[in-house]
Amino acid sequence: MRGELTRRQILDALSETRLEYAEKLWRKADAVRREKVGDAIHLRGLIEFSNRCSRRCLYCGLAAGRGEIERYRMTSTEIINAALVGVRYGFGTVVLQGGEDHDMDPDWFADLIRAIKAMTPMAVTVSVGEWPTEAYALWRAAGADRVLLRFETSNPDLFRRIHPAAPNRTGRRIELLPRLRDMGYQIGSGVMVGLPTQTVEDLASDVEIFRELDLDMIGIGPYMPHPDTPLGVALKRAPTDVLWSPARREYVTYTMVALARLACPEANIPSTSALATANRSKGRERGLTCGANVVMPNLTPLEYRRRYEIYPDKACIGEEAETCTMCLTARIHAIGRTVGTGRGDRLRAETVVEHASGAPATAL
Ligand code: SAH
Repeated sequence: MRGELTRRQILDALSETRLEYAEKLWRKADAVRREKVGDAIHLRGLIEFSNRCSRRCLYCGLAAGRGEIERYRMTSTEIINAALVGVRYGFGTVVLQGGEDHDMDPDWFADLIRAIKAMTPMAVTVSVGEWPTEAYALWRAAGADRVLLRFETSNPDLFRRIHPAAPNRTGRRIELLPRLRDMGYQIGSGVMVGLPTQTVEDLASDVEIFRELDLDMIGIGPYMPHPDTPLGVALKRAPTDVLWSPARREYVTYTMVALARLACPEANIPSTSALATANRSKGRERGLTCGANVVMPNLTPLEYRRRYEIYPDKACIGEEAETCTMCLTARIHAIGRTVGTGRGDRLRAETVVEHASGAPATAL
């Protein structure tokens, strides 16, 4: 299937408005997911350890210059304690996510990664935005296993408009990702769906880039307008032809998840919080039944979580880690799937068949 997915097919799928045809594609992706990565859903504990940010992305509620939000960076002890909660729940991975906080000392972060790796069996994923390759090399040497760095959109003009370049830095995320793989990281990226002026051609190119980069992880969520961001404000005044309706954003996100699975059959693909927020009753499950095989329960202490507002009314905002994990586990069982054990590394073709039949699979 991977080779068979042509640009025309991708474009047709993205333009499809008849639910029964869209559902056919989602079911096909679900079958490929079962065959290639099995029924287990991997839990990644998310720690939103800092909402400080040096960037001014037009879509994000954490952008620098938003004076009214109370900024925080958790201490190493707080972060390690949150990671240990993840170990107690049996998570195989902890994701350290934050704003792009260039006041953070890369050596401090390396020490933190080293401590978590020494104290837990978990894989560590870093999701802290664009940093010089030396910083990424330092964190890799400290034991970080994976990187999450969404390229957000493959349309360079749109990306530049919504993600103004940092002073003295030109690096585009799409170019940084292969270098991170060369350092030995498993690489994750992804996009937002339904950005103003984003077209189905843009989204088709996103899928082609997922395939070209041979991504290990692919995170896709609907764009959720934040009213206190420049993009959120502009949207209120925008002409209707550049707008996506919330329903269309959600629907096309399922199709993007399905296409990501068909283009990259062995990738780890989360059913994202943005999907769970866009459709509180069914978003999470729908994502998991059209290609996704990962969810990310939130381990951030509640006092910080409400301040990590990349978009408003985020799902699970007020739930303790335990409630969040129990709810997700129940949802996983309700759709006939199982909770994954181990680190949930990206599998490679030769190991996948064994894994699907229940025998232990060799990690990457
Ligand atoms: N600072 C890190 C982590 C950002 S938060 C980085 O820049 O990589 C993780 C992801 O949340 C982003 O990559 C983006 O895709 C998503 N996100 C941010 N604002 C959003 C919004 N308003 N709606 C939906 N997703 C959003």
